Parts: sequence; structure tokens; C-alpha cells
Amino acid sequence: MTASSPPSLDIAIVGAGAAGLMAAIWAARAGAKVALLEGQEKAGSKILISGGGRCNVLPIESRNPVEASFHSSSPTHVLKRFFKTWRLEQIQDFVRWDLNIPLAEEDDNKLFPESGKAREVRDALVQEAEQCGTTILYQYRVAAIEEQDGGFLVSAEDGRTLQAKKVILATGGESVPATGSDGFGYRLAKKLRHKCVQTFPALVPFTSADEDLTALSGLSLPVHWRAVIDGKEVAQGERSFLFTHKGFSGPAVLDASHYFLRDQAQILVSWQGYSPQDWVDYLQSVARRSVIKAVTDQLPSRLAAVLVERSGIRGDMRCGNLTKGNFEALHRQLCHFSLPISGHRGFAVAEVTGGGVPLESLQLSTLESRKTAGLYFCGEILDVFGDIGGFNYQWAFVSGRLAGESAAKSLSA
Ligand SMILES: Cc1cc2nc3c(=O)[nH]c(=O)nc-3n(C[C@H](O)[C@H](O)[C@H](O)COP(=O)(O)OP(=O)(O)OC[C@H]3O[C@@H](n4cnc5c(N)ncnc54)[C@H](O)[C@@H]3O)c2cc1C
Repeated sequence: MTASSPPSLDIAIVGAGAAGLMAAIWAARAGAKVALLEGQEKAGSKILISGGGRCNVLPIESRNPVEASFHSSSPTHVLKRFFKTWRLEQIQDFVRWDLNIPLAEEDDNKLFPESGKAREVRDALVQEAEQCGTTILYQYRVAAIEEQDGGFLVSAEDGRTLQAKKVILATGGESVPATGSDGFGYRLAKKLRHKCVQTFPALVPFTSADEDLTALSGLSLPVHWRAVIDGKEVAQGERSFLFTHKGFSGPAVLDASHYFLRDQAQILVSWQGYSPQDWVDYLQSVARRSVIKAVTDQLPSRLAAVLVERSGIRGDMRCGNLTKGNFEALHRQLCHFSLPISGHRGFAVAEVTGGGVPLESLQLSTLESRKTAGLYFCGEILDVFGDIGGFNYQWAFVSGRLAGESAAKSLSA
């Protein structure tokens, strides 16, 4: 190296989020000289705000099949193979024993740090990456990556440059751009010959112009939701639902959101998560009760009042006196309620980005690009996202480890 030539290293990882930090740990553990380049003043800004500041770091158990938790335009057999490379229990052990974070189980299949502090997760990842020998360069906003002499020349916005034999792009998607992931990673990928699957906000709250429902803001209850296209159910789930002053949110809505946004599905809910038959049995068992009393006995009274009014039935009618038509109208409100959605809250609040760099453009066993040798990808920049519940960190960790370790191993190949 001459006095004027840029610093040279084995692997430059762009983006110090969950995926980039994990890639750095495994690349450095495998003996590579690694620099982690982060555009922001600190690493893992998104980790700090995740899980309401508590970081739902992983799920407790995997769900079967894989498409019950992870979404991609690639076929499920492609997705499946990644999760075999580092099983959920092994990642949980890594978090507990390598990162030294005691974990606490919570309802709805979620694991959080026992401390209840997302900062503990971020700090432990940074500490482990540095202890393994990674150099983290902050406020190093990568503006360009060019192929040069069998490797790459990486240039920052402020004019700094470095040379790397391999590059891992871990720049995240474009959700909550204030955290540093503003979609620029896709531009870097495109310059290096990658096409991207159209991106869209996912795990995003809905807006609604229905004032009777937005007036229920703050009300939360379990629901069973179904996404329906042309009368056919394409997805379903059971989770909590929240009325907001702008529309609808909560895990049920976030999980269902991409079916509305991407596939124009109608989203139907059954309140309290009861099945249609449960509601039939219940209404028949309370024949002498008034409709409003019967519904209020099962649902919050403000919601019950809206639903009974929308069914067109007088609330003081006895359940046993309902005509077939009355009964069906009420039943529709209770368990096939079509959410009046007018839009969504967009990338500003979406928890993740759908779409991105397609898996088919990568070697699936290593996450190395098929278009540009020596370039690797991991995390949310890829066309994969998970449901609410720690699945997105599972993806960031699995893909980060695979890309980091593979890039390091390729140095000696
Ligand atoms: C409000 C909120 C709550 C969430 N809660 C959870 C949760 O509890 N559990 C869960 O599993 N998931 C959760 N998620 C999703 C999860 O945080 C993300 O899926 C995950 O952080 C993605 O990791 P990543 O490393 O791929 O990308 P990111 O975390 O977005 O990291 C990308 C990094 O790259 C940097 N970068 C981007 N461009 C450049 C550039 N040109 N040069 C240098 N650096 C660059 C960014 O500054 C950023 O630090 C939540 C998301 C949000 C927004």
C-alpha cells in the first residue's frame, strides 16, 4: 500500500443494524479483517425503538409451515433452507450465552430481554462484534461501491474511501427512514446489477374514514382475521386488534396489512377470535336476552353498540325472536366484519419493507450475488420479511450469519 492508497481490508459491511452486526460477528470469528460502515452516529437505531423500546428479539417457537411467519415473492422451499442453517433454538442459545442476555417469555410466542431494554440487545451485538475484532466506523455513509482489481472500492459521502475484497450490503429497507435505512441500499444494489422486487410498507397500520370506528380509539381486543380475495381465504391469524384515532392497528392488523396493500385482499375479522359457529351457539344459548345485552356481554359496550346498530336490528329485541335475515345480519357484524380501510400509514411507521433484492439473484447457500462476485446481502434489504413476534430479527440474524461466515470463508477458497 502506498501512503495515499485507501485502507484495505477483507470485508466491508455496509449498515450496522441487526443483520450487519451479526454478519460482522461471524465474519470476524472466521478470521476476516472486517470493517462495519454505519451512516448514523450509532449502530442499531432500529433495535432501540423495536418492540416498544423492549425489543422482541425472537419468537419462542417456530410456526409451521415457514410461510405462516415469513413472506417473500420467492417460493417457500427457497425460504425454508435458510432457517435450517441456524435453527431458532440455536439462535436463542446464541443470544442467551454468547451475547449474555437473559430472556423472558411473554404471551403470543414472544421473547424479550429480561431487562425489558432494547438497548441491552444493541449494546451486546456491538460489544461482541468489536470483541471479535470488527472495526466499526460511524457516520460513514456509503455513497458508492465500485468493482476494482477483483475487489471493491467503497466511497463515503464525505469523500473517505476504502478497499475491500468482499462487500456485504446490510442497509435495511426503507421503513422508518429516520433510523438510517432510507432505501439507498437498493440504489447501491442496482448499480451492482441487481433488480429489485417492488417495495411496499409492511406490518403497517391502516387508516379509516369510518368515524364510528375511529371514535373507538384506544379499544383493544383479540380477533380472528382473514384475508380474502375473490371469496377465497388466502391467509388468517389470531392476535390482538387496536382501534386508533386514525384507523386500525395492533399485531392482527400489522400481520394482515400486506395482504391488503400488495394483494388488494379484503380483511375480515371475527371479534374476540370466536369462530362463526361459536357465535351461532352463543346467540342461540341466550334466546331470552336482548340483542344489545347479549353482544355487550361478549364485547366492549362501545363496539357492541356500533355493531348492533350496523346490523339494522333494534337492540332491545330478544335474540330468540330474530328472523333468519336479522340473525345473519348480526352474525356478519360479529364474525365476518369487513374492515373499512381507506389506506395505510406508509413507510414512516411501517415496521418493515416488503419486496427488495430477490433471493433468486443470490447463491442460496452463501447469499453471494450471482450478478457481482464478492458481493453479499443480508437482512431487510432482501425480499423477505416476517410477521410481528421477533421473526424479523430471526431473519436478520440467520441471513447475517450466513452472509458473514460465507464471505469470510470465500477469502481462503
Ligand atoms: C418501530 C419498529 C419496531 C420493530 N419491532 C421489532 C421487534 O420487536 N421484533 C422484530 O423482530 N422486528 C422488529 N422490527 C423490525 C426490525 O427492526 C427490522 O426488520 C430489522 O432491524 C432489520 O435489520 P437490518 O439490519 O436488515 O436493517 P436496519 O436495522 O434497518 O439496519 C440498516 C442499517 O444500515 C444503515 N445504512 C443504510 N444505508 C447506509 C449507507 N448508505 N451507508 C452506511 N450505512 C447505511 C442504517 O443507518 C442502519 O443502521 C421493528 C421495526 C420497527 C420500525
